[in-house]
Amino acid sequence: MKTTQNVSPVTKVKMPDKFVYFFSAGESEGNAGMKNVLGGKGANLAEMTSLGLPVPPGFTIATEMCQVFYDNGEKLPDAFKSKVLEALGKVEKLLGKKFGDPANPLLVSVRSGARASMPGMMDTILNLGLNDATVEGLGKQAGNARFAWDSYRRFLTMYSNVVMGMNTSLLEVVLEDLKEAKGYHLDTEMTADDLKTLVSKYRKQILESTGTHFPTDPLEQLWGAVSAVFRSWNSERALIYRQLHGYPSSWGTAVNVQSMVFGNMGEDCATGVAFTRNPSTGEKIFFGEFLVNAQGEDVVAGIRTPNPISKETAKGEKSLEELMPIAYAELVQVYKKLEKHYRDMQDIEFTIERGKLWMLQTRNGKRTARAAVRIACEMIDEKLISTDEALLRISASSLDQLLHPTLDSKAAKTLLAKGLPASPGGATGQIVFSSEDAVEWAEKGKKVILVRVETSPEDIAGMVKAQGVLTTRGGMTSHAAVVARGMGKCCVAGCGDVDVDYRTGEMRVKGYVLKQGDQITLDGSNGEIYLGEVKTVEPKLDDFFNRLMEMADKKRKLGVRANADTPHDATVARRFGAEGIGLCRTEHMFFGADRIDVMREMILAETREERIVALDKLLPMQRADFSGLFEAMKNLPVTIRLLDPPLHEFLPHTDAEAKELAKRLNIGVEKLQLKVRNLHEFNPMLGHRGCRLAITYPEIYQMQARAIAEAACDSIQKGNKLVPEIMIPLVNTDLELKRLREQVEHEVMQVQRQRNMKFDFLIGTMIELPRAALTADAIAEHASFFSFGTNDLTQTALGISRDDAGRFLATYVSEGLFDADPFTSIDQKGVGKLVEMAVELGLKTRPDIKLGVCGEHGGDPASIQFFHRVGLNYVSCSPYRVPIARLAAAQAAIQQKSLSAH
Ligand code: PEP
Ligand code: MG
Repeated sequence: MKTTQNVSPVTKVKMPDKFVYFFSAGESEGNAGMKNVLGGKGANLAEMTSLGLPVPPGFTIATEMCQVFYDNGEKLPDAFKSKVLEALGKVEKLLGKKFGDPANPLLVSVRSGARASMPGMMDTILNLGLNDATVEGLGKQAGNARFAWDSYRRFLTMYSNVVMGMNTSLLEVVLEDLKEAKGYHLDTEMTADDLKTLVSKYRKQILESTGTHFPTDPLEQLWGAVSAVFRSWNSERALIYRQLHGYPSSWGTAVNVQSMVFGNMGEDCATGVAFTRNPSTGEKIFFGEFLVNAQGEDVVAGIRTPNPISKETAKGEKSLEELMPIAYAELVQVYKKLEKHYRDMQDIEFTIERGKLWMLQTRNGKRTARAAVRIACEMIDEKLISTDEALLRISASSLDQLLHPTLDSKAAKTLLAKGLPASPGGATGQIVFSSEDAVEWAEKGKKVILVRVETSPEDIAGMVKAQGVLTTRGGMTSHAAVVARGMGKCCVAGCGDVDVDYRTGEMRVKGYVLKQGDQITLDGSNGEIYLGEVKTVEPKLDDFFNRLMEMADKKRKLGVRANADTPHDATVARRFGAEGIGLCRTEHMFFGADRIDVMREMILAETREERIVALDKLLPMQRADFSGLFEAMKNLPVTIRLLDPPLHEFLPHTDAEAKELAKRLNIGVEKLQLKVRNLHEFNPMLGHRGCRLAITYPEIYQMQARAIAEAACDSIQKGNKLVPEIMIPLVNTDLELKRLREQVEHEVMQVQRQRNMKFDFLIGTMIELPRAALTADAIAEHASFFSFGTNDLTQTALGISRDDAGRFLATYVSEGLFDADPFTSIDQKGVGKLVEMAVELGLKTRPDIKLGVCGEHGGDPASIQFFHRVGLNYVSCSPYRVPIARLAAAQAAIQQKSLSAH
């Protein structure tokens, strides 16, 4: 049944009790703590006035009114208007001017301001209140008609764009035509009469383009501007920005209405922006730019080149310090006061009107990671902040910027496509489509980017040699992503817009057809792919960084280990402060050109005896691998995981490869292909892998256990203290672990007897299947430690393939079905619950059980907070994430301490 309701479009709306907050020197109804009500800008304007700083008076309309506006059918309620007019009246009284008064007009600026800064949400409107009558009054009052008409034409430009939605490039054409006709280069060359002509041309153009007369009633202008601010909250760019940062739409934006001060009245006027410290390097110097006789956005718009503020930063240009020393001295006092008050680096905006300084904005300045670290350290020394505050202030994940070569942000670039930012850093090179070509080209001294639909362990050699890796499929924990992060190699994964055709040796993207040898550049920090070469810059870890890490180490409770498979990775990990290896994936050791065939011999063996012959050949190679790792890690703990992936991953994938291999191994190609077919699995991730391999072929783990034990003996004989940790993957039941533990133990004891040596060792397991988590009490009977394999645990708990997730996960995240990619940041409610449960059950059986995590989540700050909370002993992550984990672990400890204190 169809129902109709008679609802008038404008229903009665509920207004908050107070929604207009006045501010003027010495009288302020708000403060910096009221960001939720006043927005960031409004709260800081109120705070500055309370501090006694020179701020032009005005008022802020509360964020709540944004929702009221929408509830009221996008109209401003009358009760709202009367309150605003009351506040406006207060400003008029204070300044002795009247809004719309032709003789002595008050002009205002109107600006948006949400509780968090949302760059580009709505542009500011300045000089509101001007019309053909008030412009004359303003000119007379200022004794400067040119200034008044200049302000008017600026107002027309801003308002027609922001409120009336007009494309202002049409007005720019009008301006350029006039300048050309007069032979002018700069806007400042225009006379009052020129500007007057311009204004009338602008109004004509506005009528033509919008079909509406430009509003001449100042009140109509004001309501139009306020409505535009509220409307901008739901503009496309605001919606995208909110989605990106997870800001809810219920926040709404505030509106700031403030009396105008003018930086464009003449040569004793200026406008500028400044940072209280250098935002790129963190150096403690006052850093900013200004323009004489200018207004608003002129400084950042790039129409005229601005000058530096302080003499110290000038390179021959005239600084504000020299041109307006009195205003400059006051500005220095103000910025020092602000920094001390906010106890953070500030980004400020100011205007100088006839030599008098006015402050228009202050906020915590955005900065690079390098600057953030330096500023935090120096503010501790200056006793502005405590160590805890300093550590909490730096975003742990931002440290990534400091650890990898990065693209030169100043370089020009042509964007081709965007994939997942799988492993940070910048990389430029020539395209190759196979691992073999990557190796061959790199050995000839060429820099290459390995482009694959997806990578498999066979591509490792090529990945090692490549500058960066691009895949068109796969997610954040796909093979390419995990391996590249482990190597600290730039990687963009799952870029669906790139089409790779191995047959023709081409990749197609955005209308370009790129061939092997063509240059591209990857930005692993944001997933972008560029055409051609983009310059990169090498990272340097300075003393401030080392100091930050030392402070973090003193605070954290979680240990930080690294996932490393080679002595090189282990050395890098130690350099970054790893306290051990939490995961050595032994399968990565079998892919070297010198051993893959022996491995294949083992897989192809028909009988146990044949298999043992091949395993005997692998034994010395594995022993050497482990010796290398023990050597690199000296006395630190090393966890070695026994073979995990399904065997067919090691076998050839194409007929041509099969033929070649058959020849090398001297067996029939049909026999080989039959074996490959027999090993094929429909769901290899859920198939014959992990400890299941050793249940069917016990000799594989026996060989690995022996190699570990023999390498340990050698290392101990050299004087190292070592307690090897042997880890069994993909365990489902306690009986699996019981059996394999006995076998491994037996092998290690046998080596000890043969070598007549004794050493301690631990046998533990990965918890990476839901059943293992749920029965962790039984499993702990046979495990000295648990290491949570959260990659597989996420895959199996969510039933989402980690290698296929790239296709749909982004949609899940952007549409709010997942807060974050669960392969990047642990799904605390689901997978996290399994971890928590396993921790509890494990401790019940074995109170001294060691608990760690070695999935990709071990390097994710939000997940690290969680692991700290549930009581793990350590996290293990790729070497390049070790510093991030150290800081995140410290932050988790500090936050927990402060929570329990409250
Ligand atoms: C895991 O599953 O979390 C894990 C560390 O193992 P892998 O990524 O090698 O499967
Ligand atoms: Mg796993």
